[in-house]
Amino acid sequence: MAAPKTTPSPEPKPAPCPVCKGSGEVSRTVQVGRKRRTVGRQTGFCLNCLGSGEAPAD
Ligand SMILES: [Zn+2]
Repeated sequence: MAAPKTTPSPEPKPAPCPVCKGSGEVSRTVQVGRKRRTVGRQTGFCLNCLGSGEAPAD
């Protein structure tokens, strides 16, 4: 009995996180002083997807 070959169904791709665009990291400007002078940029992990790059299910 030959079993019919079934093509494995592709797993649905998780939607990329809208905040970090799927990179898992977000860059934010670092500002100092009362004048909020921008001194540089800092890369931190995305708090929306917790660095996974995938949009949270809920
Ligand atoms: Zn994210």
